[in-house]
Amino acid sequence: MPSWEKQSVSPDRSGISSISKAEEELQKFKLAVENASDHIIITNENAVILYANKAVERITGFSQKEVVGKKAGTKELWGGMMPREFYETMWETIKNRKKVFTGEVQNRRKNGEIYTALASISPVLGDNGAVRFFVGIERDITKEKAIDLAKTEFVSLASHQLRTPLTAINWYSEMLLSGDVGPLSEEQSRYLKEVYKGSQRMVRLVNDLLNVSRLEAGGLIVEPVPAKIDSLIAASIKEGKFSVGAEKEIPVRFERSKEETKLAVDSELLNQVFRNLINNAVRYCSGRPNPKVEVSLDKRPVDGVNSLVIEVRDNGIGIPKLEQGRVFEKFFRASNAQKAAAGGTGLGLYISKTVVEKWGGKIWFESEEGKDTAFYVTIPLTGMVFQKGEKKLA
Ligand code: ADP
Repeated sequence: MPSWEKQSVSPDRSGISSISKAEEELQKFKLAVENASDHIIITNENAVILYANKAVERITGFSQKEVVGKKAGTKELWGGMMPREFYETMWETIKNRKKVFTGEVQNRRKNGEIYTALASISPVLGDNGAVRFFVGIERDITKEKAIDLAKTEFVSLASHQLRTPLTAINWYSEMLLSGDVGPLSEEQSRYLKEVYKGSQRMVRLVNDLLNVSRLEAGGLIVEPVPAKIDSLIAASIKEGKFSVGAEKEIPVRFERSKEETKLAVDSELLNQVFRNLINNAVRYCSGRPNPKVEVSLDKRPVDGVNSLVIEVRDNGIGIPKLEQGRVFEKFFRASNAQKAAAGGTGLGLYISKTVVEKWGGKIWFESEEGKDTAFYVTIPLTGMVFQKGEKKLA
């Protein structure tokens, strides 16, 4: 019997032997663990299983009897399916650093079926600070993963299918508006501009959705090659039609560095992130008095990493203090933004943050409602981190 199960039955005050209060509490506790829907095991400091609850059998197919005395995380039972580094990190975390490890893990049931589990392993320390036990809790998330994947695939397919007709609408509207196929009356031109604006908004939404599904499916490529950053930024500003409502141009000021910065970057990704920040800055200061957007570059350490910091500053609506914590969440749009600029998707910054972190950089902002907003993006001076993969952004 494991040591934590050894409990004495003590006589009560009347002298009659009865289950003590502590024993009763312990029984309740044991029942709860035994019947929990998550798989729970307790191992000794060498991962040899001392206890397994009922869910272990339901999930893995191995009976409680079969697992007790065997080593957890090995091929003999449901484990051993992950790359070596996964187990190394796990052991380093729970044994040496004595911290909780959490992660998604692929396991194999007794019948050979592979399943995905969300695992959390906690060390239980003795009075002397040494590890006495490990408690491993796993939740089978195979079904949730499959639903998630199906959703991602659906969004990806739907967005892909929508792009072709949208491109046609955009194309023909542009052609008609340019007057290439004959003049339009003022009224026709006004309506057509609305069609054009609407279809551009849809293209943005469809591209954003497609990008989110690509990023969430994993495998984004980051292919850094040496590039002149000042020139890239200047070209990106020049290319973008930063006019809101197709009429009012907002000036975007960029002062190039005296000495052009050269860094290994994936210019497509940098462009994507930078354009998103500029677009936001322009959209959220349009209609305000003296709107202006300023871009600047600086080299300085950020969290101990020597970095190139790109700053995009505007004097627009700002971000309300209470909502600042949610700005990088998927689909989040601050209340003042919803009122000021129709047509945002709330996906741009979520995409940007995922991409920037993928290349080894950071993204953050400083803002005050009704005043300035400054977004900052960094690239390590050693260049963007190369990432193998097969997916590019739309
Ligand atoms: P959206 O398409 O809504 O702009 P983003 O993901 O790019 O989506 O931005 C999320 C939210 O962050 C915006 O809806 C807005 O509330 C806020 N935001 C982003 N950039 C700015 C900015 N320059 N000024 C004010 N608010 C901003």
